[in-house]
Amino acid sequence: MRTQVGIVGAGPAGLMLSHLLHLAGIESVVLECRSRQYIEDRVRAGVLEQGTVDLLIETGVGERLQREGLRHDGVWFSFGGRRRHIGFPELTGGSGIVVYAQQEVVKDLVQARVAAGGQIVFEVEELSVHDLDSKLPKIRYKKDGVAQELICDFIAGCDGFHGITRPSVPAGVIAVYERIYPFAWLGILAEAAPTSDELVYTYHERGFALFSMRSQQVTRLYLQCTPDEDLSQWPDDRIWEELCKRLSTQDGWAPGVGPVLQKGVTGMRSFVIEPMQYGRLFLAGDAAHIVPPTGAKGLNLAVSDVRVLSQALEAFYKSGREDLLGQYSANCLRRIWKVQRFSWWMTSMLHLFPGADGFDHRRQLAELDYVTSSRAGMTTVAENYVGLPLD
Ligand SMILES: Cc1cc2nc3c(=O)[nH]c(=O)nc-3n(C[C@H](O)[C@H](O)[C@H](O)COP(=O)(O)OP(=O)(O)OC[C@H]3O[C@@H](n4cnc5c(N)ncnc54)[C@H](O)[C@@H]3O)c2cc1C
Repeated sequence: MRTQVGIVGAGPAGLMLSHLLHLAGIESVVLECRSRQYIEDRVRAGVLEQGTVDLLIETGVGERLQREGLRHDGVWFSFGGRRRHIGFPELTGGSGIVVYAQQEVVKDLVQARVAAGGQIVFEVEELSVHDLDSKLPKIRYKKDGVAQELICDFIAGCDGFHGITRPSVPAGVIAVYERIYPFAWLGILAEAAPTSDELVYTYHERGFALFSMRSQQVTRLYLQCTPDEDLSQWPDDRIWEELCKRLSTQDGWAPGVGPVLQKGVTGMRSFVIEPMQYGRLFLAGDAAHIVPPTGAKGLNLAVSDVRVLSQALEAFYKSGREDLLGQYSANCLRRIWKVQRFSWWMTSMLHLFPGADGFDHRRQLAELDYVTSSRAGMTTVAENYVGLPLD
């Protein structure tokens, strides 16, 4: 088999790249180790930056998002038992965010690719990449037990943090910059109508908590916990009791309680590789970087990477230009490091760190007081949260 761009992974990065390339008249094949149903049911992120929303709409995959997505014009920070609001449009020239679950974005992209006759091969096995430093890199895999080879002009590694493309780059080429946090998030999805129209980020002496939502009927809530937290010690009643203690505010606001649909523990890590390219392999999304989820940026970064990559590939195929491909890594990393900084800062400001003392507690409260009362502080939060401009 032969294609122009072989894409490993049908997450948001791989699917969006395939969609953008199709619009530019470039052929691609997406290879995914899971089933279609599995990737369409996988619950993960849900906050879309303004730029992500605009791109989905402009490229024709935003119809359901516009109908079902929940537009948010601000966010709440809660500390000392009180909530303070930061409004986005007035601080950012009109931008906001939309809450629309990642699995819905995935469904819309899969449907668009299938409708356009695009090739997504699900449930591939034993995938490996070869000849990355040649002009004809190859992807080998098995489908239904039969060995296959896909010869490409380029390979896009969009296979997430645990994928195989990043480890296929020879040792010594890539530098890793990493921070692992001494806590994790215990997250639940609950059948309970949201009691706040916007997200509530809470700093509490018992630990961080986040109130968020995925639709008009479903809330998504998180508690700071230990990285090795044993979920079997957390029956639903205990989770709700802890969430209510941390999230409830003096004005009587509290999360709505309902049946827990899913629960899990997510580790917290900042991770970046440099460069994001080796030969004709280009890495994008979680394959190249991870942010702690506090800033709600993982999905958005995946989309902004593949936007840059699709433009570089389009310049190559339309005018033979290789300069944008050469600049792919540097162009993405400028944005990635700003987003890493914001995600690290939000995480540091809102969580309890082991060994923190009264000084740290008062410093964090003062920082929250500042960023929720000064126009400069609120603008910093707002412009990063809705997404820095794509340059
Ligand atoms: C458990 C979890 C929870 C998260 N929760 C949140 C959240 O609450 N809020 C938030 O903002 N962000 C969250 N994120 C981050 C966000 O979901 C990711 O940043 C986003 O999914 C990145 O998209 P991606 O396409 O780069 O990678 P992924 O979505 O990981 O997609 C990679 C794809 O590659 C496939 N793949 C892997 N290996 C192979 C292989 N060898 N061969 C073929 N295919 C392969 C995978 O099955 C997957 O479909 C979460 C991430 C995880 C892992």
